Amino acid sequence: MSHIVILGGGESGVGAALLAQSKGFSVFLSDQGKLKEHYQDQLRSQAIPFESEKHTVSEILKADEIIISPGIPEKSELVQTIKKQGIPLVSEIEFAARYTKAKLIAITGSNGKTTTTLLTYHLLKEAGFNVGLAGNIGQSFAKQVMEDSFDYYVLEISSFQLDRCFDFKPDVAVLINITPDHLDRYDYKFENYIHSKFRIFQNANTQTACIYWGDDEVIQQYKELIPAAVAHQRVIHFDKSSGAANITDDAIQFAFGKIVRATAPIQGPHNAINMAAAVLAATEAGVAWSDIQANLGSFQNAPHRLEPCGNWHGIQFINDSKATNVDAVFYALNSFKKKLILIIGGVDKGNEYDVLNDLVKSKVKGMICLGTDNAKLMAHFGDRVPKIMSTDSLETAVSTSMQWGESGDIVLLSPACASFDLFKNYEDRGDQFKATVNRLTHGS
Ligand code: ADP
Repeated sequence: MSHIVILGGGESGVGAALLAQSKGFSVFLSDQGKLKEHYQDQLRSQAIPFESEKHTVSEILKADEIIISPGIPEKSELVQTIKKQGIPLVSEIEFAARYTKAKLIAITGSNGKTTTTLLTYHLLKEAGFNVGLAGNIGQSFAKQVMEDSFDYYVLEISSFQLDRCFDFKPDVAVLINITPDHLDRYDYKFENYIHSKFRIFQNANTQTACIYWGDDEVIQQYKELIPAAVAHQRVIHFDKSSGAANITDDAIQFAFGKIVRATAPIQGPHNAINMAAAVLAATEAGVAWSDIQANLGSFQNAPHRLEPCGNWHGIQFINDSKATNVDAVFYALNSFKKKLILIIGGVDKGNEYDVLNDLVKSKVKGMICLGTDNAKLMAHFGDRVPKIMSTDSLETAVSTSMQWGESGDIVLLSPACASFDLFKNYEDRGDQFKATVNRLTHGS
């Protein structure tokens, strides 16, 4: 096999091109969109041929193997043509994993991937392990594998990457949860998406530790997809004593010790699952419990995930802009015992809000719908909260929350929706929220 084509010139595609070239393949990279200048520079500096803003099919079909970006859908004409030609299509993860001897910890799930990946990485790094962080986060896995100076990698893996993984065999594989997501890429069949997620375990054998949340109904139903002969199945449970990690209201209990939830660095029932998964993964990688205990407290999650961002006259402000689906808001509401003023809304992705009804009724004292079209939210929650208002101004949303709030309340931005109506993306929404809170609470 000598000629590799890479489709998609983002972080992972350019990394794959550089790695492939360094391994002696001839390489061509093609991107339908515009390649960023600094990526073009990286390719030019290594004399790697590429095209930007087009796909020349005849060139692409010369490949012996194609590394495809997770962003390119299966249904696209190009992918269909490639499949007809029988050219193997793999992900950057599959390709790069061939060239490293490092131990791999791979983490997937519908929600909680980033949090669990960052925490696992933190626990290994702080314990003195020589560890890299890759996958959906930060620098491309392939680029890091070129230098291959790490003994361990913690990888955040999406279902789209898993779809193009065949021999990829992590030493520790983690499946946090499965709820419907991205169904447009799976022929609107939840079953297909479930099978995609379980590919994290597809090559598991007597060397592999498989970790999953055992109370997840979907995982429970499909867990026979995990090969029988794995080294360990580590199961996380709520309120049971049969798991490798058992979560109660107060603690996460392991065979080797416990985490007191009240003083943990990340809060809420979903983060208890994430912490249990990360601690079990780190333990399987060889991190000692004493190191985990010593370093857990210094973990700082990525921004925009239940991120505290201000306190004004006893009202606490929380930025959960990454909550772009209803499931994430469900967990956010469950994370607090105090009364909440909820800022919700944006681009609705066909949301079903019924699952939030009871929580909203018992916890939300005021709801602020922030978006260009709030009609659906106003109609659904209008009779379920004492106060509700609609606005397309973040400034109005924050100032209203300050008027409605009293000492001891929480103002929570947890939108359940995409952000593209008023903001560039969820990061922009979260950053603007934090800046507005900062400005208004310091100006008065
Ligand atoms: P991902 O990388 O899978 O999108 P993140 O860690 O970035 O996950 O979290 C995304 C959103 O989902 C945040 O709003 C967060 O509070 C929520 N969340 C995190 N972990 C879980 C979980 N285990 N179950 C449900 N929701 C979660």
